[in-house]
Amino acid sequence: MTFELKILGCNSASFAFGRHHTSQLLNSNQNLFLIDCGEATQVQMLRYGVKANRIHHIFISHLHGDHYLGLMGLIFTYHLQNRSEDLHIYGPKGLDEIITLQLKHSESKLSYELHFHLIEADGQLLFENNDIWIHAVAMNHRIPCFGLVFQEKLRKPKFLREPVLPEGNEMKGQTGEEQVIQYTEVIIPPPEPRKYVYFSDTRVFTHKMECAENASLLYHESTFLDDMKERAASTFHSTATEAAGFALQHNVKELLLGHYSSRYYDVHHFLMEAKTIFPETKLAMEGQVYEIKPVHSRKERIPHGESISK
Ligand SMILES: [Zn+2]
Repeated sequence: MTFELKILGCNSASFAFGRHHTSQLLNSNQNLFLIDCGEATQVQMLRYGVKANRIHHIFISHLHGDHYLGLMGLIFTYHLQNRSEDLHIYGPKGLDEIITLQLKHSESKLSYELHFHLIEADGQLLFENNDIWIHAVAMNHRIPCFGLVFQEKLRKPKFLREPVLPEGNEMKGQTGEEQVIQYTEVIIPPPEPRKYVYFSDTRVFTHKMECAENASLLYHESTFLDDMKERAASTFHSTATEAAGFALQHNVKELLLGHYSSRYYDVHHFLMEAKTIFPETKLAMEGQVYEIKPVHSRKERIPHGESISK
């Protein structure tokens, strides 16, 4: 089952060095979830071959412009394309007012239904289908800001029956004679449910965050390098080193850094700093897809019984 993340924008407040505002696309079993929608997200979707019409759920972490200013453009583009399928938008208080006001003053009546879902509480369940749950997690930022936890559901094991053939792998006796065949039941356990955790703009948490424990992939903002840690603290952002320390503390499998400040031309310094603490670190780079790999348990063979065959 597909569970992968595509990065559309990885920079912070300003465009710089070809990098754009925050936006990501999570593909869970071919359901596409858009995470933040900074300015130019539409352009990035065209550039990287995203079928925008397949998106039915958009999550906005907070109302700083670099995380949502592409949303109205996308809403209007869907209308111009005569979209008919419903669109669900999840965001903090005030986003519904912003959308309604812009529709009102442009005297627009959209071609599709737009549903707004208010994110207001830490741990709030935002969405659920057969494959995943999506919960909100409160960040520590200058204005109300929510991260997201995409948790896969445990799938059912598969059962197979395998005959245990006599030595030499031959059936004995004449056709038509009754014979006893032993069977072994093979249980194929489901893969471990995967978890993608998105920590949008936030000051690093110094206490344990249960929602991030054992994440298959943690995206943690890292606006600054270590040389700017005072600035990171005063602006409620994090450094690469702090994000790496958090990942280590929470036993995550992989860490993805992003939301780089425009002051940095070469973002590989983020990787170097983080890897000294947490080696399984990657950089969010635009256009790249990060597969969140399943972990398969071993098959188990259980002697099951016998049955008569002819
Ligand atoms: Zn922000």
